[in-house]
Amino acid sequence: VRIGVVGLGMGGATLACLLADAGHDVTVVEQAEDPRPVGAGIWLQEMGQQVLDRLDLLEPLRAVSRTVDRVRIVTAGGRRLVDLGYDALPGAVPALGVHRGDLFSLLHDAVRARGVPVRLGVPVTGVRPTAAGLTVETSAGDLASYDLVVGCDGSRSRVRWSMGVTARDRVYEYGALWAIVDDPAETATDTLHQCLRGTSDYLGVLPTGRGRTSLFWSVRQRDMAATVAAGLPAWRSRAEPYAGPHADLLGRVDELLPAVYRDVVVRTPYRLADGSDGSGRAGAVLVGDSAHAMSPQLGVGTSLALADAWTLAAALSAHATLDRALPAYARARAAHVRWYQWTTRLMMPVFQSDVAPLAWPRDLLAPAVTRVPGVPGLLIGTLCGDRTSPRRRVTLFT
Ligand SMILES: Cc1cc2nc3c(=O)[nH]c(=O)nc-3n(C[C@H](O)[C@H](O)[C@H](O)COP(=O)(O)OP(=O)(O)OC[C@H]3O[C@@H](n4cnc5c(N)ncnc54)[C@H](O)[C@@H]3O)c2cc1C
Repeated sequence: VRIGVVGLGMGGATLACLLADAGHDVTVVEQAEDPRPVGAGIWLQEMGQQVLDRLDLLEPLRAVSRTVDRVRIVTAGGRRLVDLGYDALPGAVPALGVHRGDLFSLLHDAVRARGVPVRLGVPVTGVRPTAAGLTVETSAGDLASYDLVVGCDGSRSRVRWSMGVTARDRVYEYGALWAIVDDPAETATDTLHQCLRGTSDYLGVLPTGRGRTSLFWSVRQRDMAATVAAGLPAWRSRAEPYAGPHADLLGRVDELLPAVYRDVVVRTPYRLADGSDGSGRAGAVLVGDSAHAMSPQLGVGTSLALADAWTLAAALSAHATLDRALPAYARARAAHVRWYQWTTRLMMPVFQSDVAPLAWPRDLLAPAVTRVPGVPGLLIGTLCGDRTSPRRRVTLFT
């Protein structure tokens, strides 16, 4: 199948490798002229690790990341709300803290090693069915036509937009300012540390391996520019009460970068069009954030994108035609994606919103609830990124 993959991010790079390995004629189109290893820290869960393992990238990833198998949430007043280790769920594989740039470099090298053509500096504006298949459009004109175009172009996907399948695309009121800092002594150890007050202020500290740590500061979308403009000293004195043992790290921040969180839902992640022979052989399909961007509260976005990529490649191998493969892909991904969309949507107001009264029951109940027998295992199970309900797991590899 002639496949155009739009976007060389987490999902696009993974998918390009899987499709090339399966013998498809795949080309990647990326808007960046010079994709570089940049980005915040990522907490990569078992689900994503398993897909990388299938590409022989898990061991190299371990070498540049850090095991982060505890999550601790405290209030600025010192009350411990959550303190959970992955050992609460027998057999759970600990998450890894990794710099997004390190993961990107591994995936990028894997794409290049397979000889997949990558067209850089091409911002795609959409796709449309033509006699030649699915034609990829840019502001400079048509680029090329494929049997299948995969939109891996992230939360603001132009491919999704042109497919007309968006059911919801909402920017959350809150996002984050983030930074990566040197932490050679690895003071942030093996724990995702989060400290909050009410529902509006919160600092996250995620160890990301190779002597670096990622910091996240929750901030209202509309206050982001003003917070940056006020300068680092003003931000440091705001954030200091939340840093606890990591106060030193605040002094090493030299730039705060904004991240906008979106909530994206699609009616269906694919559209079929008649191929040149009228056989229903052309199609467009979405993978990763383009189909289901969500706030990174649970740290599963990358795992979901990688699970999508694996499932789509498997569906294309299992079914001879796109009109069977694409619906099979959509069915296989629906429950998994839905579970994390709902869980994230329910959590978001409790941790990042202007609904301050939600903090009272949270602070009162969380310490007791997370100690009820069975609950820690359920929570860690959800964090592992492979659930379709509190107790059910998705079966990706058969
Ligand atoms: C601050 C922050 C923290 C996060 N933390 C975590 C975490 O801890 N754990 C986790 O699992 N996930 C986390 N995520 C989410 C995670 O980054 C995403 O879910 C994941 O990157 C999705 O992969 P993707 O391939 O769909 O999109 P992306 O990785 O965003 O890749 C999209 C690619 O498409 C390209 N592109 C975009 N538009 C076009 C266009 N028009 N034409 C051509 N190319 C285009 C982009 O340049 C990019 O290369 C976080 C996200 C943010 C913002």
